Amino acid sequence: MSCSGEFVEKEPELIQIKPNIVQQLKKAKYGVADHSTVELCHWTKKSFKNEGTCYKHKFYGISTHKCMEFSPAGMHCENRCVYCWRPMEFYDSLKMDKQKVAEPKDIMSKLMEERRKLIVGHFGDPRQDKQKIEESLIPSHYAISLSGEPTMYPKLPDLIKYLKSLEATKSIFLVTNGQEPEMIQRLADEDALPTQLYLSTNASDYDSFLKINRPKYDDSWQRWNKTLEMLADLDTRTVLRVTLIKDWNDSEKMMSGYRSIFEKSNVHFIEIKSYMHIGRSTNRLEYENMVEMDDVRKFSEQITKKSDRFEVMDESEVSRIVVLQNKKRFTERYLSAYA
Ligand code: SF4
Repeated sequence: MSCSGEFVEKEPELIQIKPNIVQQLKKAKYGVADHSTVELCHWTKKSFKNEGTCYKHKFYGISTHKCMEFSPAGMHCENRCVYCWRPMEFYDSLKMDKQKVAEPKDIMSKLMEERRKLIVGHFGDPRQDKQKIEESLIPSHYAISLSGEPTMYPKLPDLIKYLKSLEATKSIFLVTNGQEPEMIQRLADEDALPTQLYLSTNASDYDSFLKINRPKYDDSWQRWNKTLEMLADLDTRTVLRVTLIKDWNDSEKMMSGYRSIFEKSNVHFIEIKSYMHIGRSTNRLEYENMVEMDDVRKFSEQITKKSDRFEVMDESEVSRIVVLQNKKRFTERYLSAYA
């Protein structure tokens, strides 16, 4: 009640990441704002020292040092994937109430400030390229992935439209676990599709899907397949991101399942990558569960030799990844071609 006796509606409290988790995330060099997270990617930091760029720069030409990696759903996810390097044990509820989430502009201004704080410390190191650090303060590429499931954020279409409205923006990549097909439909309907949409694909059948993703929704497999089916007609660049885990999802008998999934998706690119024994995943998997680069190549050849659609486009040995390109739904690989 205001002093003039009028009834004043109290602003609903925004969803917050729990303080003890914020503490752990800050220790891991994350920036946190309400329910969102930001981080300086390992490759962005390496590029400041001119020690290389990420495979997405090599494959698609994105700017590694001007990349902003963040998530509007930092600690919200519907799955508990065994290979996840994030602290997913702390993931929160299955719903983000639309009344209690921050507005896209607020998220971005707060995260940009958190990111600036993570960057400015690099100016003090004489080994680092000051011009690159300076340029990195205004992102041109957004990687909406980092932690949690971004499609759980109910205002995602407005967020992507806001990023597209920024003059410096060249590209926006969004990674989804496929559990929110309605949100993918909304992105299409509201003209808010990212430059490149990734669907995490790490199982060729229902049983291994449950074993690897440990989903919370009973209809998780149907949700994932619904998202998969949408990719074939979406008016943007589409990618299946396959995480291979040795002795979990890389066996010979799974190949036919993968082939039919890949053909059905008709995506532009398929990234086939080894699981990496890093972060919190080391509590769940062994070092031996990483797949050797030669085996990643062999898996890829097994796909391409029986496909008249996909062929090997490129690879990155350090990231243990091979990327396939769709000859029948061809698009120029380098995004600069679109600039
Ligand atoms: S695109 Fe991905 S790998 Fe490359 S710098 Fe950005 S977050 Fe890192």
